[in-house]
Order: sequence, then structure tokens, then C-alpha cells
Amino acid sequence: ANCSESQKSAIDEISKGFEVNKTKFNEIVNHFRNEMKKGLEMRGQTVAMVPSYVTGVPTGKEVGTFLALDLGGTNLRVCLIKFESEGNMSIKQQKYTISETYKTGEARQLFDFLANCIDKFLAELDETDYKGSSRKGGKLNLGFTFSFPVEQTAIDKGTLISWTKGFTCVNAVGKDVVFMLQEALNRKEVPVKVAALVNDTVGTLLAHAYKYPNTLLGVILGTGTNCAYFEKISNIKKLQSSSNAEHMIINLEWGAFDNEKKVLPITMFDNKLDRESNNPRLQIFEKLVSGMYLGEITRNILLNLIDRELIFDGISSKDLNTHYSVETAYLSTIESDDTDTLENARKILEEELNIPSTTLTDRQIVKRVCQIVGLRSAILSSAALSAIITQCNVIKTGCDIGIDGSLFEFYPSFEARIKSAFREHFGTNADNFKLGLARDGSGVGAALAAMLTTAK
Ligand code: ADP
Repeated sequence: ANCSESQKSAIDEISKGFEVNKTKFNEIVNHFRNEMKKGLEMRGQTVAMVPSYVTGVPTGKEVGTFLALDLGGTNLRVCLIKFESEGNMSIKQQKYTISETYKTGEARQLFDFLANCIDKFLAELDETDYKGSSRKGGKLNLGFTFSFPVEQTAIDKGTLISWTKGFTCVNAVGKDVVFMLQEALNRKEVPVKVAALVNDTVGTLLAHAYKYPNTLLGVILGTGTNCAYFEKISNIKKLQSSSNAEHMIINLEWGAFDNEKKVLPITMFDNKLDRESNNPRLQIFEKLVSGMYLGEITRNILLNLIDRELIFDGISSKDLNTHYSVETAYLSTIESDDTDTLENARKILEEELNIPSTTLTDRQIVKRVCQIVGLRSAILSSAALSAIITQCNVIKTGCDIGIDGSLFEFYPSFEARIKSAFREHFGTNADNFKLGLARDGSGVGAALAAMLTTAK
């Protein structure tokens, strides 16, 4: 590139702040392992290590028909899943929109709405779809994916700690969400039993395990990021359980890792994002890694370069000046722009973000900035995964890792970058870990959790 000396030195300096060299990588892995241990010993730690009460993983041989309800994003999903063994299954699903009224009203109304959707969904099915699938009093078993903070005390019991993502229903916090859903189903006489409550990471792990029985980790890399893994119960010191199972799935809640900002490579661009966010000093790891934030970090860097008159002739736009106007999908497009003139990058900058004019050098700098931000995200994911793999003691034996989320699915080189960091850290043993896309696994996983508990 035809960068000037001042452009070059600015980029080098920014790049340095985002760098995760070998020493840093090891430091992060070690701290992550310590935080996992603390979380397994005591409640209320930074990395919460939430027990899921799921004590088995599927073998792929299971058969049966189960319902799943997935609540946690903009859409509500109801699925009927028929497991046909050998890792095969058929799925029927329906999405429903949740209106603001339900998100912010009485909890009872929201749960009545959920029961209504299940009722409607069943009414539209052919009875042969689920005939012969019911156990115990003719009810269909349902797995409930509920992706909000929950204090779980059994596979089918969990109290809501707080709402997030725009939900604010009254009379729900502190109550058992399984009980509330079951009561709503009973009121409408819908013949469904809520058999299991799972986090989306746990669902992703289970769904991937049905296809790949060697799966030990389930990961979300989408709007947010989190992970669940299979842990020895004897290591979960804080668990008062008389279960005679040997393993349990733990939901790490890893987004909160290093909220203390001790080891992560945090730059002024991250601090600005954090300060201006609606949850400052929380979810620090998530803010460096997940899809919700990568565009905003990039925006902060570009504004800095504009203010120093190093790009775009020092001129910004109303759009670029607006919070969260840079989507992470833009980074994907810019990073994969292989045209000589960086035409795709130009379109985004000039037509989406309305920057008056950009030079090729400007666009090359922007592409470099996207690489810096995207690379750090993948390496940090890899460091966290490396810590968990080490904790699981499977460096030599290997395992499968199921990953769901648009960041992993669509960001160019994300998977390659995770793997390359694995290779740096584990040497040839890195080939023992198989990353796989587990698209929409959480619904299937919830149904599997329902199966695993009702089969006992
Ligand atoms: P969710 O995590 O909300 O259930 P997704 O897994 O689809 O849903 O993740 C959505 C997020 O993924 C978006 O907020 C955005 O940050 C990111 N994303 C969407 N499209 C892309 C893309 N093409 N490349 C990279 N990231 C993307």
C-alpha cells in the first residue's frame, strides 16, 4: 500500500494493542483455567460455571419424538423433533413474533402466549407426526431453551435472576420459569409436559453430540458468546447433589471472563465501547469477541484515524458518527474483498456509511483495521477453548466442538484462525479437535435434554 509514514506508524501502534502473542495467549489460558476452578468451587464468581443438571450426552442411538420451545431472541420457536437414530432426525418448526406488549407486560400473559403458540403449533400438525411418542399420561415432553440468566436447581427447575435483551415482564424475576410455563399449559389444557430447562449453549452441545458422540463442548459465537462443556461431577465442588452420575454439563457464562480487566488485551477503543454501553464493566470478554461488538470497536478505531486526519481526508459522516452503525457483517465483506480496487469496501464506506469519498489507501487501511479486530476475536475464542480442552484433559484424545452463531458461520477465516491458534498452542495435537457448525442446535438440544431426563 502507498501508506504515508504517519499512517503506517498509527496502524502499527493500533495493531500492537490488539496483539495476542504466545506469552499473552498462555497468560490468558492460565487465568481462564483458574477462573474456571474458582467458579466450580464457589457460587457468585466472575465466570459463573452454572450447573445444568444434564448428566448425560446422547449417543446418537436415541429414538423418539419431542417438542422444543426456544425463547431468548426476537423470535420464539416451537419445534417438533423426531429422532430416528444414527444421528438422523426430522424437524418441523414454526417461528412466532413476540410483541413488545408480551415482552414488557405481566409475566402470566407472556407465558399464556407461549402456551398458545404451542397449542396452535400442535393443532396444525398431523396427528401421525407425534402419535405414539407420548409417555406418562399421554403428554408430549418438551425441552425449554430459555436464554436468560437462571439459577437452576434441577433439570426442570430454575428461577429467573434477571431479564435481558429487552424483556422486562413483571412478576417473573425470582420465579421458576418451568413452573410458570407448565401452569400456562395446564390452564389451556395443552397435553405437554415441560421436562427440561436448558441454556442455548447446553442445547448446542447436546445437538452436536447426537451427530458426533465425541462432542464435549458447545459454543455460541453470534450476537453474544458463551460456552458449555462436560465436566466431572467430582470437580464441581459447589454442587450439593446426590446424583450418582459421573459427569454434568456446565454452562460457563464465559462472556464475563476478566471483567476485572487483568489479562485481556484491552485497548482505548474497547474502553470507549464499554463506557458507553448499557452494561459497563460487565461482559468484558464478550465485548472483545462477539458479533454485537466487533463493528463498534472498528467504528471507534476509524473515528480515531479520522480525528487524526489519517483517513477519509479527516471527514466522517452522520452515519459513521452513530453508535453501532458499523455492522459486523460489513467487516466480513471488507475482509473478504479481493478486488484490486477494494470495490466492496468502497460500497460499504461510501454507499452504506455515506463517507463522501475514499481513496484506495483509505480502503486498504480500513481492511487492515477489520483484520486486526476480527483476528483478536478468533484468537481469544481459541484461548478460552484451549483452557477448557486442557481442563477436560483431552489434549491427546481429542474431542468434537459444536459451534452455533453467524460470527462463526460467516466471518471469513474465523474457523481457520481458531485452528491456527490451536496449532501454535497444542502443536500437532491441535488436529485432535474438530470444530463443526451446529446450526440452530439449541432447539434440537432442548428436545434431547427432555429425552435424556424422561428416559430414566
Ligand atoms: P443470535 O446470536 O442473535 O441468536 P446469530 O447467530 O445469527 O443470532 O448472530 C447474529 C449476529 O451475528 C449479528 O448480531 C451480527 O453481529 C453477526 N453477524 C451477522 N451476519 C454476519 C456476517 N455475515 N459476518 C459476521 N457476523 C455476522
